[in-house]
Amino acid sequence: MLDLFNLKGKVALVTGANTGIGQGIAVALAGAGADIAAVGRTPPTETEAIIAETGARFHFISADLGKGAPVSAVVEEAVMVLGRVDILVNNAGTIRRADALEFSEADWDLVLDVNLKTPFFLAQAAARQMLAQGEGGKIINIASMLSYQGGIRVASYTASKSGIAGLTKLLANEWAAKGINVNAIAPGYFATNNTEALRNDEQRNRDILGRIPAGRWGAPSDLGGAAVFLASRAADYIHGTLLPVDGGWLAR
Ligand code: NAP
Repeated sequence: MLDLFNLKGKVALVTGANTGIGQGIAVALAGAGADIAAVGRTPPTETEAIIAETGARFHFISADLGKGAPVSAVVEEAVMVLGRVDILVNNAGTIRRADALEFSEADWDLVLDVNLKTPFFLAQAAARQMLAQGEGGKIINIASMLSYQGGIRVASYTASKSGIAGLTKLLANEWAAKGINVNAIAPGYFATNNTEALRNDEQRNRDILGRIPAGRWGAPSDLGGAAVFLASRAADYIHGTLLPVDGGWLAR
């Protein structure tokens, strides 16, 4: 039974693995046996040190995932160094906050580029590689509670995370029969850089905690199990789903 979740021999490409949720996911995948290609603009020194303990191979691919990210070069480098790509986790993401009446075009474009455009083209490049390998693959997008809800003062973020939910289903429809599973994890409220402004605002912090049945913010390690599951053989018949890991937020 446990073998169902074993990722030995698999290579996982994880974006934004230097910190937060991406770090939690990379560490969990490595713990299940996968080798990790970490993609991002900040060297993931801490993640590399944690993963070294698991014995998994680790390689950092330096790339700014904003405008014009060279996504096919990212996949090529992973293949060159680690031999293949079996799993893609589109985790890197950014957020900008302003009233909709004041929201700037620059903040719209940046967030849509990092959170939606790059994940699509990275999925395309990874899927081409997976198809060439002939053994299928797993793609996991990181969605949000704002894939379900509207949010406030985060217009481009809500658009991007609602978009990633739709894109996850579209890619699943096109690639399921080719052996590629495309799914998403929808984290609730996690204590990372992304939510620092919310946690520093006493009122927002209290309001958010008051709605989480689990009674606490999520920690990046809370997402590891869901990522290993969706990356493993256990999820072979799961396509186009959004898996909330939210301490019960959506149940309220
Ligand atoms: P985080 O700690 O701010 O991490 C974001 C990651 O994305 C970092 O590795 C960051 O790299 C990377 N990134 C941002 N812009 C980039 C760019 N242009 N090029 C390359 N890398 C870039 O936030 P997090 O909470 O872990 O977020 C991870 C994912 O979870 C995001 O997609 C976020 O939207 C999603 N999410 C988070 C929550 C939450 O409650 N925290 C809830 C729902 C969804 P740098 O360190 O170099 O900036």
